[in-house]
Amino acid sequence: MVSLSQFANAAGPQQLFIANEESVVLQFLCEPKDFRYVVEHSNPSDWRKVAECTFFDGCWACEQESREYGQRVRVYMPVLVNGMTYIWSQPVGKGSGIQGALTYLKEHGTILDTLFEVTRTGSGKRTKYTTIPVDNGTPRVYTGNVSLSKVTKLVPYEKQANFYKKRNSE
Ligand SMILES: [Zn+2]
Repeated sequence: MVSLSQFANAAGPQQLFIANEESVVLQFLCEPKDFRYVVEHSNPSDWRKVAECTFFDGCWACEQESREYGQRVRVYMPVLVNGMTYIWSQPVGKGSGIQGALTYLKEHGTILDTLFEVTRTGSGKRTKYTTIPVDNGTPRVYTGNVSLSKVTKLVPYEKQANFYKKRNSE
């Protein structure tokens, strides 16, 4: 069995980007119960300005009148693509790439015994991901540990207004 942990990137895995009309074959590295589900906000006109909701400590985005600043749940999933670890993030709900994995889980009790092909169609608000198991897609053994805690931004309350509204991202 081949151990792939040596491929782990010291700076942490990159986020997986799938272009419109592109398909990627990936292997999930944990079950859906161990994915990280995060409540977050983003600037409606700049999706890169995204941070965790800090509702219990005061949250600038929650205080905004605009519904576009509303809370959204996003799921962060550790995956293996061509021997490299990535973190793949998706919204939850209709059109989300996690749906195909959850359907498979329901039928098989695990998502770790197959590879999946993920296809993206559309862009912007019409973006849709389809996740289907690959016939005879045998997963590889992975012994590393992908941290899901560092992929999201936690901004202190007093810095949030500036964070979301600042024109140039850092
Ligand atoms: Zn909030």
